[in-house]
Amino acid sequence: MRLVFLGTGSGGSIQRFHTCIYVELADNRILLDASSGNSALVNASKLGLDLNTIHHLLLSHSHHDHSRGLEYLESHRNVRDIQQALNVYGSDTALKDVRNFFQAMNKDFEINDEGILRQGKSFTIKWNSVHEGDSNKIGDMLCKSHAAKHIAGAVGWRLECGNESVVFSGDTEFTENTIIGAKNADVLIHEAYGLKEDADRLKMVKHSSAYDAGFVAFKADVKQLVITHVSTDYHGKEDLLINEASEIYKGPISVAHDLMDLSI
Ligand SMILES: [Zn+2]
Ligand SMILES: [Zn+2]
Repeated sequence: MRLVFLGTGSGGSIQRFHTCIYVELADNRILLDASSGNSALVNASKLGLDLNTIHHLLLSHSHHDHSRGLEYLESHRNVRDIQQALNVYGSDTALKDVRNFFQAMNKDFEINDEGILRQGKSFTIKWNSVHEGDSNKIGDMLCKSHAAKHIAGAVGWRLECGNESVVFSGDTEFTENTIIGAKNADVLIHEAYGLKEDADRLKMVKHSSAYDAGFVAFKADVKQLVITHVSTDYHGKEDLLINEASEIYKGPISVAHDLMDLSI
């Protein structure tokens, strides 16, 4: 398994790019979230990773820091005349929001229930609506979403192939659903926007503390925890996040940073 973190910052981060994770599981290659702007493309190119060769993108939710980079992924594919469509998977709500963004900003695009067509050419994007709990196959990889506690239509993802598994919490407050989704996973990538002492703010913005991330990792009995979606307040103070998560979870814990390339 290979995990490359192309963006690891929260929406308001001024040090890190927004969320996008490249996942390689056996021969399957996908993206988790699209970051915002062109940052996934910029960081991928620094690592020699051509995102035009990846044809599947799983969205956690429609917030701008996770979905708006899709416009740049699409436009990059169109410019390079990539014939294969980028398949975008998400809840009905998330896909509807993303389609509305596209339509508002690109009035001349032909956008329908199936995908996005450019000048009557082949699809550059295809929408794949998923229902929580259903297993979807991409290649020989199983992708299963579970409801997150964040905004309408937000989900987390579990990816499995053979005996390897990785789970992404997406943006979420603590929820039992992540524990169920992450059961015995090799890697849990969980957001942590702050510490327990930030509880009031975390409740307001519907995010997790590092302790929540550790608690989920402990309860789900995962093999390792990677914390991401780091806010400006904890950039440079990542040890505080690790220390708090390790109060409850005794396995290996790291905090992701942009361009982190993890082979497991
Ligand atoms: Zn976010
Ligand atoms: Zn969000």
